[in-house]
Amino acid sequence: MTIQPIDLHSHSRQSDGTLAPAELVRLAGEKKIKALALTDHDTTAGVDEAREAGRRFGVEIIPGVEISVIYDPGTMHILGYFLDYKSKQLADALEDFQEARRERNPLIIERLRAEGVEITLDEVVEESGGGQVGRPHFARVLVKKGYVKSFEEAFQKYLSKDSPAYVDKRRFTPEDGIRMIREAGGVAVLAHPKLLRARSAEEFDGVLDRLVAAGLGGIEAYSSCQNEAEAVRFREAGESRKLFVTGGSDFHGDNKSEVELGNMGGWARLDYSLVESMRGASGARGLR
Ligand code: AMP
Ligand code: FE
Ligand code: FE
Ligand code: ZN
Repeated sequence: MTIQPIDLHSHSRQSDGTLAPAELVRLAGEKKIKALALTDHDTTAGVDEAREAGRRFGVEIIPGVEISVIYDPGTMHILGYFLDYKSKQLADALEDFQEARRERNPLIIERLRAEGVEITLDEVVEESGGGQVGRPHFARVLVKKGYVKSFEEAFQKYLSKDSPAYVDKRRFTPEDGIRMIREAGGVAVLAHPKLLRARSAEEFDGVLDRLVAAGLGGIEAYSSCQNEAEAVRFREAGESRKLFVTGGSDFHGDNKSEVELGNMGGWARLDYSLVESMRGASGARGLR
């Protein structure tokens, strides 16, 4: 397995990873990763801590975010890079998502209790370690309390779409998600396109063209969840549209323990120059 020196997709405890931002950056330093993007779901709360640790451990930290947008039949996530993560407008938009999560979490508790699971919101909040609360924290509490044997089983039995305790979360349309990232000066990239579960090449091309028309700047061809044939297909789709061809491990710590930080498949072809090009395309000011 080849470890690439850059990794543009990672999660900390601020969303659904298990490492604190500084621990994540320290691990990146140990793995000799030159540039790491912190792309927590719906929040940039870990970026300052990560950048501070980046200076200590010699890792360049790219401020990022990952947002879930409305899409059927699969899952569409849009990554934002080099955003002005201190902009008030971005903070306000992300705060709306946090508010929606605060409304959603008690509903998940109610549904779990209706299934006979004894669980409180306090337990889940404590499991989150002070970051954003999401389904992975519910899953970990269910494992700890013995209601399920594994994290995966918690999703299968209770938390996944079509399971009894599932509550959807607030989402932007793809266009609004891309606009939010661009208004904050960021570059918008389609994350792990495989998860779109497009039913045909035509459908995939149509979706990608629609995103490009909305301002998409890149496509994540390399991901721990995409094999070589998929990577090649997504790379070609990106190249033919003059998009940035990016990659990342989608590291989540122990919540996805099979994924190693920095690893997006031995076939990944990414060079640090990509980071410079993306920085140049962004509105980043002073993000050195
Ligand atoms: P939330 O944003 O609260 O809806 O939680 C979504 C997160 O839950 C994802 O980013 C994954 O980390 C995790 N997740 C979703 N579905 C599954 C699954 N079937 N198995 C394991 N983890 C999952
Ligand atoms: Fe996640
Ligand atoms: Fe994702
Ligand atoms: Zn991710």
